[in-house]
Amino acid sequence: MKNGQAVTEAIATRTQKAQKTYGFQDNHNHQLPADHWFQHSLEGPTLFIVFYSQACRWAECLGCNLPSLMSQYHVGFAEIMQQIDYVFDCLLIPQQKEDLGKIIISNNGSILDEETFSTTALMYFLAKMNIHCPNVRVLTMESRAEYVDWAELEVLARALKEGRTPTQLELAIGFEAFDDTIRNDHFCKGLELQTFEKMAENVARHGFLLKVYFMVKPVPELSEEDAVRDVANGIAYLSRIAVRYDLAINMHLNPTYVARSTKLEEAFHAGLYAPPLLQSVARAVLAAEGKKISVFVGLNDEGLAVPGGSFIRQGDEDLINALEAFNRTQDFRSLAVAISR
Ligand code: SF4
Repeated sequence: MKNGQAVTEAIATRTQKAQKTYGFQDNHNHQLPADHWFQHSLEGPTLFIVFYSQACRWAECLGCNLPSLMSQYHVGFAEIMQQIDYVFDCLLIPQQKEDLGKIIISNNGSILDEETFSTTALMYFLAKMNIHCPNVRVLTMESRAEYVDWAELEVLARALKEGRTPTQLELAIGFEAFDDTIRNDHFCKGLELQTFEKMAENVARHGFLLKVYFMVKPVPELSEEDAVRDVANGIAYLSRIAVRYDLAINMHLNPTYVARSTKLEEAFHAGLYAPPLLQSVARAVLAAEGKKISVFVGLNDEGLAVPGGSFIRQGDEDLINALEAFNRTQDFRSLAVAISR
């Protein structure tokens, strides 16, 4: 079978099963990443880079159309290496290379799934990062838990220590909703608590960091209040895990937007779903005060929301500023003041 053909077929089958109607970006220039943006996190200036590769093999999560920015066919290591050259040779100017404190790498799926993202390219990225970005303290890799290969990560972590500034490895895993039924039956995440906890234990044992993606109101079955409660329950749970394994955990909290060509879009048009209010997102964040985790609020819909389906509404500017300030400071007091106005 041709390279990646079985994966192409699996993606098509699963996309259809999840009743998603989007197509893929097969005409994207294979030598350029799919997307990138800069943000500020606790480690300082941060580059979020989405490499262009074959799409996520899981494909089923209810409101997710991230795979639609990817290829349904295999993208070889030489092409991904050209994308990496583009990042370090064209995209970043010298001052940015010097300033970056954190880089997050994604392929809108799993960077650690070698069927969709080449291991050669991953090692090449590390080598170039060590040379070009001497002050990166944290490198984050997004992946589903089942693709994590601890022996591979051990080698990558060793290479990361060879840069001028030793770089810590952070694994970023999608959890999305705390409630088991919401997460697995409604959202179709396919993640059991047992799997997550085993992975968290391993992350701690290897001295890595853990980022966990949660969503506010990911499915129509959650009311606004239930959505805030689910995030608060998730915060309490992650805090217990952080204490149990003495592990640094960052919750990356994404307000849900209505992604086009998904079942969430259908529910939105039928009047059965509305994205969460930013006020609710901020209230959910406040549940982390005094807990052993940090929280980062993602405010980028990557241009994938349907018209009117974003969580950002007119008049939200002050709240956005307050949440962005919170991302830099973790100052709960200021955020509480901002939402009481
Ligand atoms: S949320 Fe992640 S794992 Fe789920 S379909 Fe989207 S990219 Fe794949």
